[in-house]
Amino acid sequence: MRVSGSSGSLMEERASGADIRIVNSPLDGVALAARNPDRKIIFPGIGFEATAPAVAASILMAARQKLDNYLVLAGHKTMPKAMEMLAAEPAASIDGFICPAHVSAIIGTDAYLPLAERHHIPCVVTGFEPADIMQGVEMLIRQKIAGEAKVENQYRRVVKRDGNSKAREVMSQVFIPCDCHWRGIGIIPGSGLKIRRSYARFDAEKALPVKVEEQEEQKGCRCGDVLKGKIQPLDCPLFGTQCTPENPVGPCMVSSEGSCAAYYNH
Ligand code: SF4
Repeated sequence: MRVSGSSGSLMEERASGADIRIVNSPLDGVALAARNPDRKIIFPGIGFEATAPAVAASILMAARQKLDNYLVLAGHKTMPKAMEMLAAEPAASIDGFICPAHVSAIIGTDAYLPLAERHHIPCVVTGFEPADIMQGVEMLIRQKIAGEAKVENQYRRVVKRDGNSKAREVMSQVFIPCDCHWRGIGIIPGSGLKIRRSYARFDAEKALPVKVEEQEEQKGCRCGDVLKGKIQPLDCPLFGTQCTPENPVGPCMVSSEGSCAAYYNH
C-alpha cells in the first residue's frame, strides 16, 4: 500500500477516494468479484513463490465460477534467478546464502543445488526465529571453514527437499516464466511470472487499456547497491532524510524486512 508507484502509492490513491481494500487472501478478491458482478475487481499479484500459488489458485477458482470481472495484475518474482545474478556479481563477494524459508517450502531445497555447485557458494535454508537464524549462520560458517558448498536445511520442520509439488503444479498451470524488472537492479531474465495465454481473460494488463510510462529510478537512490551488498544503507545519501519508513523512496525502506528499514528502526 505504501510503495511509491509512477504517480503515488495505493494508500494515497485510497485517501483521494479510490476503492482500494486490503484482503487477507486472493480468494477474498474472488469472493468480492462474485458479490459485485457489475464491478471489475483487480488483485495485485505480488511476492515470490510463497504467494504465487495462492494467486494462481484464485484465477483457477474465478475460472471455475465463470467470473468475468476478476483480474490479476501479475507482478510475481522468483528467487533462484535473482540469487544466481547476485552470485555472479563479483562486487557482491557472497560467502553464503541464507535461503528464504517460505519460498523454499514451495520450491524445495533441491532448487538451490545448481547455484551451490556452479558458484561454489554454501546455501542454508533457514527459519524465522532468532535461534533459527543463528543456527543457519553457524551452519554456513562450518561449511565455509570446511571449504564446502552444500545445500543444507535448517528449517526441516517446514521445508522438504522437493518442496510442495501441488503448489508448483497450480502455479505452472496459470503462470509462465518471463523476464522481469527489479527495482534498483534492472531486468533479470526469467525471474518473473506472467499469466499464461489460456488465462489471459484474467490478466489485468491485457484486459484494461492502461499505459504506464517507464519511470526512471529515483535520483540518488542506491537500493541496487544495497541489494547487491556493495554498500551499507547508511552510505545512501537519501537515508533518513528524504527516505524513511513513513516516506520510502526505494524498496529497501518499504517493509520492516527491508535492509534500510531495519537499519533505520534499529
Ligand atoms: S535509503 Fe532509501 S533510497 Fe537509499 S538505498 Fe535505502 S531504500 Fe533506497
